[in-house]
Amino acid sequence: MALETLQQLGQQLDSGVFPCVHNGGFVRPLESAITSTRGEETEDERQRARRSATRSRQWSASGQGSSCGQGTRGSWPSGDASPLVRPDLQQQYREELSAVRDAYPKSLAWPLDEGMLLLVESALIHGLGRSALFLVVVPRDTRRRVTSWGFWGSLALPGSWIGPRHTNAPDGSICAFELRDGTWQQGDSLVKLLDLYSLWAARHLHMERYQRWPGYQSVQHTFERIVELRPDEYCGCSNSDKLYKDCCQSKDQKTSQLAAAIQYANSGFGSRLPPDCVNDFLLHRKNHEVIMALTTA
Ligand SMILES: [Zn+2]
Repeated sequence: MALETLQQLGQQLDSGVFPCVHNGGFVRPLESAITSTRGEETEDERQRARRSATRSRQWSASGQGSSCGQGTRGSWPSGDASPLVRPDLQQQYREELSAVRDAYPKSLAWPLDEGMLLLVESALIHGLGRSALFLVVVPRDTRRRVTSWGFWGSLALPGSWIGPRHTNAPDGSICAFELRDGTWQQGDSLVKLLDLYSLWAARHLHMERYQRWPGYQSVQHTFERIVELRPDEYCGCSNSDKLYKDCCQSKDQKTSQLAAAIQYANSGFGSRLPPDCVNDFLLHRKNHEVIMALTTA
């Protein structure tokens, strides 16, 4: 049943349909998309759809993995005109903590002078027994980016880092959407951000089980495509509605892998891994200020 759910999620993402995220971080296929392919709904299905509508959130965001790397991730739309610190925003995030706890009951929060740290457990797929843990750094300075890391495991037992696919270089932070698309911006709901992370982690689960990233993605660097993309994944270039084998694969194969690697490195990309202090925080939950200072402009 859990694997069937994972398969359905993948099929929906491939069709451009975004699944629902329910309280606790459970990611489930969009009921209406399933029933529309099955023919007539039963009364039971209609009731379930109504119930799920009251407990689930389905965002209209593009939510695809993005082209990831420091310095090329786009910028906050407010740009230079934004004040250094927006007290209203800081207050807004603090007030939203109860909504975060409703949506993600297994979460911890540390409101600090410099911003806020969240450690949030997300259940992902019902019955699969693989939860994810998100460390979210929300800086008070709005010119710095909200930065987060994903790990398998739970609050009680943190596990290994989730990556390197669709993480940022070099710090291995989560890259769950394209900043330029405006999928999530400073001031938007933290619950929505966590839901995007839950979907990102569910896509990693799909990739782990079926060796394929489901749905559209953005992978602009040739070297990254050569190394990471499977032929039957959507191509990460701007023609991302085509599969890689039908789009850039033959062109990429004619490119020198060494030249592509050098270009990739020269663009500021490279290995992706969380800093030691992030791993340390997961285990010991101390040195909060060091984690806060990791966000970049
Ligand atoms: Zn392409």
